[in-house]
Amino acid sequence: LGGSITGALKRMSNATIIDEKVLNECLNDITRALLQSDVRFELVLNLQKNIKKIVNLDDLAAGHNKRKIIQQAVYSELCKILDPGKPPLTPKKGKTSVVMFVGLQGSGKTTTCTKYAYYHQKKGWKPALVCADTFRAGAFDQLKQNATKAKIPFYGSYMESDPVKIAGEGVERFKKENCDLIIVDTSGRHKQEAALFEEMRQISEITKPDLVIFVMDSSIGQAAYDQAQAFKKSSSVGAVIITKMDGHAKGGGALSAVAATKSPVIFIGTGEHMDEFEVFDAKSFVSKLLGMGDLSGFMDKIHEVVPMEQQPELLQKLSEGTFTLRIMYEQFQNILKMGPIGQVLGMLPGLNSDLMPKGQEKESQAKVKRYMTMMDSMTNEELDSTNLKLMNESRIMRIARGSGRAVREVMDMLEEYKRLAKVWTKMKGKIPKKGGMGPVS
Ligand code: GDP
Ligand code: MG
Repeated sequence: LGGSITGALKRMSNATIIDEKVLNECLNDITRALLQSDVRFELVLNLQKNIKKIVNLDDLAAGHNKRKIIQQAVYSELCKILDPGKPPLTPKKGKTSVVMFVGLQGSGKTTTCTKYAYYHQKKGWKPALVCADTFRAGAFDQLKQNATKAKIPFYGSYMESDPVKIAGEGVERFKKENCDLIIVDTSGRHKQEAALFEEMRQISEITKPDLVIFVMDSSIGQAAYDQAQAFKKSSSVGAVIITKMDGHAKGGGALSAVAATKSPVIFIGTGEHMDEFEVFDAKSFVSKLLGMGDLSGFMDKIHEVVPMEQQPELLQKLSEGTFTLRIMYEQFQNILKMGPIGQVLGMLPGLNSDLMPKGQEKESQAKVKRYMTMMDSMTNEELDSTNLKLMNESRIMRIARGSGRAVREVMDMLEEYKRLAKVWTKMKGKIPKKGGMGPVS
């Protein structure tokens, strides 16, 4: 998925002018990618509609960075879906709260109950675990084992077969013991689905949970919405936890779970161990969904760097087919400002894969810095010339001496310039002088 969304945005950023057609193509690519990532069809359609509304091409005054506007629109719309508009209920330390976990068998409830308890215990709470799963053989043993490992009090029974009774007893007992976070683990399976939901309703009735957490496996796929909705109907789900985020799934179903339960995601599970548990962060989740690494950082970086549209002189020169060493120097300065973010480099034609191979960002940066040191030893005449013939042996020797680099390195730098000049000169005439997108590479 990541590849295709990044690809879609990149393709768009490579187009000379963003028009309706390019925007539609881009949105179609994004739609396909989101569907592949298990984001619900209805949500994707809605997203597409909203983005079209935000990115009104006619309204965009010339000179605005349209690429950035579209990127931000996709990003913020996805974040918006993840925000149901009300904060999750957070249990208060020192005041008894009952939290009930629901979800299908295998979704990770029992594991997540312990993680949740352990997380709060470390923060000074007094949690306790109640096993109200009498359906699955070994359910109590599993919870007991987890709880013992984390030194958390637990309650359950090998004999009693009524989960509602156990849940009621467990909660009552830990209330007496002044535990402030009583966690009820439930079953996720029954002979009949209706019976499971009835059981959840009854447990909910007897334990009167302050918060019901719906646990969902990130790889659930398109079934997420219906599943979440079914649980929401039987118990008033108030928060969602997505498990197994360490796997291959990007967890697009999370968006569905939020939409179906109108509840926020509060944590994610990132492994089988007790401490593989993270507070949910919508921004980084969406970044992962988009396959863009840390997209919020990416946005900030783009903002810092002067966009192409705001470099009128550069655009003017390039549209005339002029690419000097000074222009290269200025572009290098921009690159260094951006830091080792491979994706951003793709925006500057010619400056991506060849000069800065993926995975070697550090080395590439050092190289760019060396090139700039050499250029610092150049005269204005040399920097503003497009004629490499000017760079005779004595000039090259002087630059090498002045920058303390080898003649060989100066030659390399000039070779790099030659290569880039070729790329950029080809863009002559293709660059809009005012507004529009970056040049075609
Ligand atoms: P339950 O049936 O809903 O109680 O699910 P369990 O807690 O028994 O978990 C089912 C399986 O998923 C177990 O093997 C867990 O170790 C595993 N599991 C749970 N959460 C995670 C997670 O975040 N990452 C990974 N990799 N495995 C998990
Ligand atoms: Mg379980």
